Amino acid sequence: MSLMQVVKPKIRGFICVTAHPEGCAAHVQEQIDYIKAQKPLQGGPKSVLVIGSSTGYGLSSRIALAFGSKAATLGIFFEKPSEGGKPASAGWYNSAAFEKAAHRDGLWAKSLNGDAFSNEIKEQAIAIIKKEMPKIDLVVYSLASPRRTDPKTGISHRSVLKPIGAPFSSKNLDTDSHKVDEVTIEPAVEGDVENTVKVMGGEDWELWMDALEEAGVLAEGCNSVAYSYLGPEVTWPVYKNGTIGKAKEDLERAAQAIDALLKIKRGKAFVSVNKAVVTQASSAIPVVPLYISLLFKIMKAKGLQEGCIEQAWRLFSTQLYNDNFLNYDEAGRVRVDDWEMRPDVQEEVFAIWPKVNTENLSELTDYAGYQGEFLKLFGFGIPGIDYDKEVDIEVPIESLA
Ligand code: NAD
Repeated sequence: MSLMQVVKPKIRGFICVTAHPEGCAAHVQEQIDYIKAQKPLQGGPKSVLVIGSSTGYGLSSRIALAFGSKAATLGIFFEKPSEGGKPASAGWYNSAAFEKAAHRDGLWAKSLNGDAFSNEIKEQAIAIIKKEMPKIDLVVYSLASPRRTDPKTGISHRSVLKPIGAPFSSKNLDTDSHKVDEVTIEPAVEGDVENTVKVMGGEDWELWMDALEEAGVLAEGCNSVAYSYLGPEVTWPVYKNGTIGKAKEDLERAAQAIDALLKIKRGKAFVSVNKAVVTQASSAIPVVPLYISLLFKIMKAKGLQEGCIEQAWRLFSTQLYNDNFLNYDEAGRVRVDDWEMRPDVQEEVFAIWPKVNTENLSELTDYAGYQGEFLKLFGFGIPGIDYDKEVDIEVPIESLA
């Protein structure tokens, strides 16, 4: 099937409801090229499960491990194919482009599109691994979701981004109106913390690892990583000390439980704290877009700027593989947010923070860089793509076709 169409960005709040197939493919290829320009990983994994593999950190992890370690990858995601004359979601096009490039290079790659929180998807993943893959030697857990249905109770939980105990007011960038204003977020009400922990905490990661172990599909020395964020103090009321922070604490609890499970196999489980990047998940968090716009300006000026692919590569090449050791912090986490959190970077960001307003936004921050990254998530604004040309919006993901 084919359906030719001119695709333009349609931004609604913090989401773009269209995605450009060729632009998404170019974005994926850019990341593949970055990995191919690096030295291959020594002692890297050969059989990888990536849960949340279609966008952001999960996609970059999958690209880094497939092209940097020649790993077979099974990717799990929740994306929309093209339907009713509308383009597919960005993660769909990313995954189609990833598989095409992987298969072209002779790499085994399959995907499952469905709810990773469900028992069914876990069962389907295990069936594929048993039949077609060597035992798994790395599980990357990179889900970001606003809701989860608990497979045991059938209850649906919604996660919220709220402070705990008191309202939080902060300078904020409204990415819709491009205005710097003040935002006040009301505190969590009863059930918000529990629900957010249910969705974004570690329970599902544990369910995955238990199911994989029970099915006997984890290899000797299998490792597992899940991603987290801490960030600067200005975001703590709504992030680290807010409802999402409670969920991330639970992820750390789960890391310890899974670590105990994997230790028996001489493997390890850990949380990697990654840097702030523009993804569909982070653009939805109040205060974060303004912070990111400032952070990018400072990190670029210091030659420290990284996106998802550079972060994923640094984690795998300088910590997990190449005969390196994990460099744990005092809480047992791995930190690749170290450059973001460098005192000189943070001091410069917060020397500018009080001065930013709508008028000087472009001058004092890298809002243009933020917007460019945001559009790129959906395949727009990429040099070499003719956005006035019709493109086929019905792009199959080879393993799902
Ligand atoms: P993202 O929105 O780009 O990716 C989320 C992924 O989860 C996608 O592949 C999506 O398809 C998948 N997904 C969501 N719900 C699903 C479901 N029910 N079933 C199957 N797949 C589902 O998000 P991201 O920013 O890359 O976040 C990934 C992780 O990295 C999160 O834990 C996040 O907290 C963490 N992190 C993000 C940042 C940041 O700045 N973006 C920084 C540090 C850590």
